[in-house]
Amino acid sequence: MKFHRGVALPPARKLSAPVRRILVTAGPTREMLDPVRFITNLSTGEMGYALAAEGRRKGLEVTLISGPTSLQPPAGVRFVSIATVSDLQNALRKHFFKNDLLIMSAAVGDFIPVKKSSSKIPRKKCWKMTFRQAPDLVEGLALKKGPRTVVGFSLETRNWLQRSRQKLAAKHLDGIVANYWNKRHNPFGRNAVHVALISRSGIKELRAPSKKNLAPRLLKWAIALRGLKKL
Ligand code: C5P
Repeated sequence: MKFHRGVALPPARKLSAPVRRILVTAGPTREMLDPVRFITNLSTGEMGYALAAEGRRKGLEVTLISGPTSLQPPAGVRFVSIATVSDLQNALRKHFFKNDLLIMSAAVGDFIPVKKSSSKIPRKKCWKMTFRQAPDLVEGLALKKGPRTVVGFSLETRNWLQRSRQKLAAKHLDGIVANYWNKRHNPFGRNAVHVALISRSGIKELRAPSKKNLAPRLLKWAIALRGLKKL
């Protein structure tokens, strides 16, 4: 037993153990409004797929959970296909605890229709549909993460650094990758990106010509967050 100023310290957990297994979520989720229409977002999955490929290059065991995208899963990755927030929640419940690091780059939907129409909604001049708030998946997991590292993503159109820093704390994350959208900077798809990597140890801004180019630096940072954990 170790002591600090006469106080017994709990046995150290092996946080120096290397990250071997990573779980990456990517792409959008989609909620059906009726049998042929859905609500989604502009995520293409480029970032998550680039991170999964980089994980394999580093020799890690990688599970990629992905919403609908036009991308080919990288070779050697365990691939789990999902569509809705509820599908993603179930897949995360199954895989989260088997991994050392979760990178939550999926653009999870925030709104779920309260009632999906069982037949095609006819064209009409004006109509209303009621949505409920989706559960915050990463927050739910981060509360139970134990020695695992959890990294989120954030996209804002205003006050990106401040809002992302608030999410880091509110969602109990170890790190967050902050993105912003404005008329001159569109972070979706294959564009050049400007992100800020935010953790308890500070903020690091990075610029990259592509998500593929950004992925190695981002993964290295996420893995290093393990050393910052206080248990
Ligand atoms: O949408 P928001 O900016 O709050 O997303 C921040 C992080 O939270 C992202 O990593 C996203 O994957 C996650 N998230 C989630 N469940 C939601 C919404 C977002 O896990 N319903």
